[in-house]
Amino acid sequence: MTSISANLKGTEATELARWHHGEQSIPEWLASGPDRERVVEALVRVLDRPGLGGVFARVLASWLELDIDQVYASHYPRKAAWLARECRERGENPHAENLQAALVALMFCANCGRPLTDPLSADRGIGPDCWPRIDPAAIECRSSQQLSLDPRDRARPGSQAARAR
Ligand SMILES: [Zn+2]
Repeated sequence: MTSISANLKGTEATELARWHHGEQSIPEWLASGPDRERVVEALVRVLDRPGLGGVFARVLASWLELDIDQVYASHYPRKAAWLARECRERGENPHAENLQAALVALMFCANCGRPLTDPLSADRGIGPDCWPRIDPAAIECRSSQQLSLDPRDRARPGSQAARAR
């Protein structure tokens, strides 16, 4: 078994050292062969913290061989949808897509994280409330290929709206 600490960069090892499980450090705890359920519980708890629990959550998820985004989407779907939108705005599209794919796979709306209850919504991954309001091109979905992604095709200046009144 490889040492967890050996795979961490300097700052990550320092950050991980701040966490403990009872009297044990996290690497000690995980090396002691804990009950998988306990580790999942710890991961779910720490994911609710700012920054998704940082290196602690990543170490737990890697020990469990689980995808953090999938665990986050299944336990905190609304927050996961919100985070996906933030990632998208920051240009972190692969992360946004991973979160949204996890939400849709779990039958949650990729935009708001609420449960998808009808087959049409489940198929497009967007709930009926969000569908008319969102820009479908901003969400990874099956219809995206048919939509123009060229910004020049949107919001043209000098439209009638500008001259109204
Ligand atoms: Zn929605």
